[in-house]
Amino acid sequence: MPPLFTLADVSTMRGSADEHVHPLSGVTVDIAADRITVVVGPSGSGKSTLLRLLNRLEEAHDGVVSFHGRPIGSYDVLELRRRVGLLQQRPTPFPGTVLDNIRVARPAVTRDEAVALLERAGLGGGFLDRRADELSGGEAQRMCLARTLAAGPEVLLLDEATSALDAAAAKVVERTARDLAEGGLTVVLVTHDLRQARRLADDLVVLAGGEVVEHGPATRLLRRAKDERARAFLGGSS
Ligand code: ADP
Ligand code: MG
Repeated sequence: MPPLFTLADVSTMRGSADEHVHPLSGVTVDIAADRITVVVGPSGSGKSTLLRLLNRLEEAHDGVVSFHGRPIGSYDVLELRRRVGLLQQRPTPFPGTVLDNIRVARPAVTRDEAVALLERAGLGGGFLDRRADELSGGEAQRMCLARTLAAGPEVLLLDEATSALDAAAAKVVERTARDLAEGGLTVVLVTHDLRQARRLADDLVVLAGGEVVEHGPATRLLRRAKDERARAFLGGSS
């Protein structure tokens, strides 16, 4: 199967022409469909930037990002973001009830469908008529996961999405990610938690200083990475 995303010599730029940084430079990597790719690396290594390129919250300054073999810039951005859903580190509830939040993503959703989405995200149907701004952080994050799934994405991007959750809620999100990948969804997950990477990764991308220093099947990389910077990171906290 051809890769779902291809990054070919991609660099990003922040700042002005005279004074700028390159959060990513010369990144070439494929991301395969129907599996979990975990992106790891130290803080500031470019993990969020890489993820945001995949739904065009970030644009490449150089190089090409492709989705299904077509330059990502050729897609309508709203259609792209329905197909490539993002769950960020902090929940982003909209005003109104939990059901109102889910309706933003799927206007014609029925109550039964909304309950099924909530259950998938580890929240019971009893939350449907609760006010979104009265949920705890962990509940709000799971509602946001249900809302992201309501759009029917083919790719789910998770950016440190469990780091503000307690261990039990984090496990629910991890199990959902695994179930979704087994059901044919592509998951790209950024984490600084190597144990989470070990639990979830089919493929691993290791970033250091804005460059991809390793990429491949997780079982192989976790056993022995070739690159010294990748080894230093992967071996550091197992
Ligand atoms: P990570 O998610 O791995 O912590 P990021 O992708 O957020 O890394 O950031 C990578 C680098 O780009 C960091 O050095 C960060 O300071 C820089 N960066 C990210 N966003 C901006 C921005 N809006 N302005 C300036 N620098 C930025
Ligand atoms: Mg980040």
